[in-house]
Amino acid sequence: MEQSSEWLAGEVGTYYDDGGADWFATVMGDNSHVGYWPDGDRTASLQDATDNLTDLVAGRLSLRRGDRLLDLGCGVGRPAVRVARASGADVTGVAISGRQVGRAAELSEREGVCERVRFQEADAMRLPFADGEFDAVLALESVMHMPSRATAFAEAARVLRPGGRFALTDMFERSPVAEHRRPVLDRCLGMMFATLADLADYPALCRATGLRLVELADITDRSWAPSHVEVARIVEGRRDEMTERFGAAFTERSDTMMADVAGVTEIGYALVVAERVEGGAR
Ligand code: SAH
Repeated sequence: MEQSSEWLAGEVGTYYDDGGADWFATVMGDNSHVGYWPDGDRTASLQDATDNLTDLVAGRLSLRRGDRLLDLGCGVGRPAVRVARASGADVTGVAISGRQVGRAAELSEREGVCERVRFQEADAMRLPFADGEFDAVLALESVMHMPSRATAFAEAARVLRPGGRFALTDMFERSPVAEHRRPVLDRCLGMMFATLADLADYPALCRATGLRLVELADITDRSWAPSHVEVARIVEGRRDEMTERFGAAFTERSDTMMADVAGVTEIGYALVVAERVEGGAR
């Protein structure tokens, strides 16, 4: 299901610039993605679980010291800093929101890793990098916000060296959407500026862009589903503080989005890993 509209990238940037970046950072602790609780263990806090997700996905990249990693849709930078620390990789993070990039740069400065972890505003649909410039690409919960998955995959593949890996998480249509449910799902996706993938599309998506699909896993029950329960709990507990900081309209919008997400069981969350094939797209 591709969204071809050009406005989508701009709208996403504006949303994050206008409060979204800070709202997510406040609730999720500088990670703008869901948590991961392995083996049904729900004792970890949302903050620890969001770091777990970073480790799970970045672990698929088998990074070595000095590897050049592109963090595609880097948010406010916590995943990039964490991965750089753990692996010794040299990380470039890009996002469509100047506000996020600014916060991310401050974080890497504060954490003392700004020589190895840098950020810039760029559109994943037209990456300002040369072919084969990176050893690995990470895209945590970002491709669903982009106007075209096909272009996101093509650009990721282009900037990867042969044999380099692309690991990402994405939202997909987990169960068929009944006709009467479509309006709720559409509203929910609209508020998140997101589209859903079809799991069956990934092999072709990879083949068309010079990638080989290595792993495709439905991790919804360990990530997406429990995260929304936790997010709602945190927001409820800090309601007054959040309303004062972000304003009544933003809080109301977030409430509506969270209520919709909680009720929408058709959305799934996937881990996808692919490898750049020698010789590129066929
Ligand atoms: N990966 C980060 C942030 C996820 S939020 C984390 O896990 O914390 C989604 C991110 O995708 C945001 O940083 C947003 O700016 C970025 N994004 C959305 N559309 C984009 C586009 N077209 N080009 C580059 N980044 C984009």
